[in-house]
Amino acid sequence: MEKTAIQEDYNLKPNNTFGIEVFAKKYTEITDEDEFKTLINEGVFLNEERLILGGGSNVLFTKNFDGIVIKNNIKGIEVLGENDDHVFVQAGAGETWHEFVLHCIDQGWHGIENLSLIPGNVGASPMQNIGAYGVEIKDVFHELEAVHIPSGDTHYFDKSACEFGYRESVFKKDMKNQYLITAVSFKLAKKPNFSVEYGAIKQELEQMNISELSAKNISNAVINIRSSKLPDPKKLGNAGSFFKNPVVDATLYEEVKKAHENLVAYPAGVGKMKLAAGWLIDQTGWKGKVVGNCGVHNLQALVLVNHGGATGKEIYDLSGEVMQSVKEKFGVDLEREVNIY
Ligand SMILES: Cc1cc2nc3c(=O)[nH]c(=O)nc-3n(C[C@H](O)[C@H](O)[C@H](O)COP(=O)(O)OP(=O)(O)OC[C@H]3O[C@@H](n4cnc5c(N)ncnc54)[C@H](O)[C@@H]3O)c2cc1C
Repeated sequence: MEKTAIQEDYNLKPNNTFGIEVFAKKYTEITDEDEFKTLINEGVFLNEERLILGGGSNVLFTKNFDGIVIKNNIKGIEVLGENDDHVFVQAGAGETWHEFVLHCIDQGWHGIENLSLIPGNVGASPMQNIGAYGVEIKDVFHELEAVHIPSGDTHYFDKSACEFGYRESVFKKDMKNQYLITAVSFKLAKKPNFSVEYGAIKQELEQMNISELSAKNISNAVINIRSSKLPDPKKLGNAGSFFKNPVVDATLYEEVKKAHENLVAYPAGVGKMKLAAGWLIDQTGWKGKVVGNCGVHNLQALVLVNHGGATGKEIYDLSGEVMQSVKEKFGVDLEREVNIY
C-alpha cells in the first residue's frame, strides 16, 4: 500500500461551506479503513488534536487548527441483504449524501427522499441525526461501522447505541472525536410510505402539477423548496441552520405564548414544546442584517452567512449577539447546531 500523504500548513478554505480561510497544522485524506488503521499504528494521531472532516457543511472554523485534519473519502455502496419489504444498504462515509439519496430513489428504495439536497457526506449523517421535512436519519438507520481512534479497533453501533436525539447523537457528546465513522447502513422500504405532511411539500407538488406521489417527485419538490429558500454555499458561504430549534418546558412556552400570540411551536414530547428558532430570530429584527463581512440571511433567519472574507470569529461573535437578543426578548436560550472549532 502506498504511504498516505500528510500535508502541512493546509488551507481549509475549500473544505468548509462557510468558506473560512484557516490552516490545519497537518492534513490527510483517507480512502479506506485499512489505510486509516495503518496511520493509527504508525502513531500519526498520538498526542495530536484531531478533526474528522466530511463535506465541511456543518463546521465553523474560528481559528487555525493546531492538529491533524482527517478528510474521510471512503466510497462504495453495497446491498447487505433484503427481504420482501426492505433492503439493507450500506454506503461508505465519503459518499456524497445527496448522490446516495438519488441512487436509492433510482433503485426504488424509499425512506430518504425527504432528505434530498442536504449537503455533506454519508459519514456525517448520523453525527447530528440529520433531518428535514418530517424525516430524520434515525427513522431509516440500521447500523454504522466506526474505527475507535485510540485503539484502532472497529466497532459497530446499532440505533440505540447511537443515542439519536434532535440534531444529536452519542458522537456529538461522549464519543466526540473518538471515532471515525467508516460506513453507515440503512433499512429502506421497497414499498412506499410517503411523508408529505411537513413543510410545503404538498403545495410544491401541486404547483408542479403532480398528482401521483413517487419518491422522485417528492425529492424534486424538496429540491425546489430548498433551492428557493436556502442560500447555495457555492455562492454565499453558510452551514445551513446555525441554531437548533429550542425545546422548552411547557411553562416557558405558555409564558412566551402569552406575550407573543403568533409564536410558532410544535409539541416535542410530554411537557415539552419545540419553538421555531427562525421565528424567534426574525422577531428580534436580525433577519437580513449585515455585520461587517457576515450577516443573517435575508430569507431564512436561522442561517448565518459569509458575505465574503469573514473570519470564523466574526461569525461566531454574530451568533452570540443573535442568541443574546433572543434571550433578552423571549427568555429562551438558543443553542448552536454547527460544530465550532
Ligand atoms: C445549505 C445547507 C443546508 C443544510 N440543511 C440541513 C438540513 O436540512 N438538515 C440537517 O440536519 N443538516 C443540514 N445542514 C447541515 C449539514 O449539511 C449536515 O449536518 C451534514 O450531515 C454535514 O455533513 P458533512 O459531511 O459536511 O460534515 P462536516 O461538516 O464535515 O462534519 C460535521 C461534524 O461531523 C464530524 N464528522 C464528519 N464526518 C465524520 C466521520 N466520518 N466520522 C466521525 N465524525 C465525522 C465532524 O468532525 C464534525 O464535527 C445543512 C447545511 C447547509 C450548508
